[in-house]
Amino acid sequence: MLYVKCGGQSFEFERKVLAKHCQLCKGPPAIVSLSTQKLKLCQSCFERILEKRVLEGVKTFKMFKKHHRIGLCLSGGKDSASLAHLLKKIFPDTQFLGIYIDLGIGYYSDQARRAVEAICERLSIPLYVYDLREKDGISVDDFLFTNFRDKICSVCGTIKRHLFSKVARELGLNVLATGHHLDDLVSTYLQLFLAGDFESIKRLAPYSPPLFEGQAVKVKPLYQIPEIELYYYAVLNDLPLESCGCPHGEITPIKRTKNLLEELSKENRNIKFQLLSVFLNKFIPLLRENQKEDSGFLPCLKCGEPTVSPNRICGFCRRKELVERIEERKLELTPEEWDTIPAEEKANNWVIFDLRDKDSFEKGALTGARNLPIESLDNFERYLKVFKSYRNKNILLYCYTGRLSYRMTLFLCKHGFRAFNLRNPEKVLSN
Ligand SMILES: [Zn+2]
Ligand SMILES: [Zn+2]
Repeated sequence: MLYVKCGGQSFEFERKVLAKHCQLCKGPPAIVSLSTQKLKLCQSCFERILEKRVLEGVKTFKMFKKHHRIGLCLSGGKDSASLAHLLKKIFPDTQFLGIYIDLGIGYYSDQARRAVEAICERLSIPLYVYDLREKDGISVDDFLFTNFRDKICSVCGTIKRHLFSKVARELGLNVLATGHHLDDLVSTYLQLFLAGDFESIKRLAPYSPPLFEGQAVKVKPLYQIPEIELYYYAVLNDLPLESCGCPHGEITPIKRTKNLLEELSKENRNIKFQLLSVFLNKFIPLLRENQKEDSGFLPCLKCGEPTVSPNRICGFCRRKELVERIEERKLELTPEEWDTIPAEEKANNWVIFDLRDKDSFEKGALTGARNLPIESLDNFERYLKVFKSYRNKNILLYCYTGRLSYRMTLFLCKHGFRAFNLRNPEKVLSN
């Protein structure tokens, strides 16, 4: 099974026998190997090791107690799905609540939501969904129309952190658990270290106490588990995952640091654990010795979430205001909306591109559509010349499922075109 991560990196795992017997229990065949040791293991030994590491981490940091209500930040990806599965297995009597934030990223958010619903149902965990579009009237995709257009991943991170924390406070949860793993934590430490941002390093830990009363404790129970092992865990347990990848998928600085870490791991298999230990046991205690008393955080005047901003308006509220000032931020049309546009208007101001292959196009396409078969998601740049002469037109795009054309729509909008994706194209094409 191939798993493509946001930003293009991918993992592959095939269920096959690596050794006749598990090298730990000498019993069933080994089907998985640990990334840090040369051990080949059977599924149950592999899972036992992961469970032990999670339990040990939870105990070391006293992450939560039996009577606590714990929110699980779910995204539809492998990390948070494995988090939910592992915690439920290790702590069957603890009260968990799944939280999903629908960020309004076209088809991707829909698919991720279905994956989250499936995992919660399977584990009998209740689910709370926060719909950004319904509640705040904005979506992550709206930021394409702002000067954040090349930093969508960073905006998305700000929004998610803010909303998970707000939801936990509003629902009165004691603890908020995220699926951050070893690779996440260590690459963020390295990234912050290189930027000289020691204040943030000090605050980044497997356990973060509330900044003020009413806030949930934030914990990262998977901080000792390498990312690849969470992926193996998710596949071995057939966890429902979104598999189409986020259409934004930017290459962020943190992803570059992760790649660097991967290179270093080839020389030294234990480098991630070593770095984790240096930061947690040496560097952060040293930084905390010199800690200033005041953290500088105050509640935002608009929403009450913590902020260090001098005008006391938090990052989320500022970004929301920015988007609200933009009136026209439509990216998709439903077939019904398309039908209401008069024919003359379509003829004068619109150009339609059918992104499917030539055969499908010839069998039946939207009236007036031109065929532009797109074979790969990479290098959309090479199509820019095709669209160049339609700068003054509205561009309607469609494909088989609406996924590829949605990505192309985002790409064109980023480059200043007025592009729209046709939602549910099959409805129009079958007529
Ligand atoms: Zn075994
Ligand atoms: Zn705010």
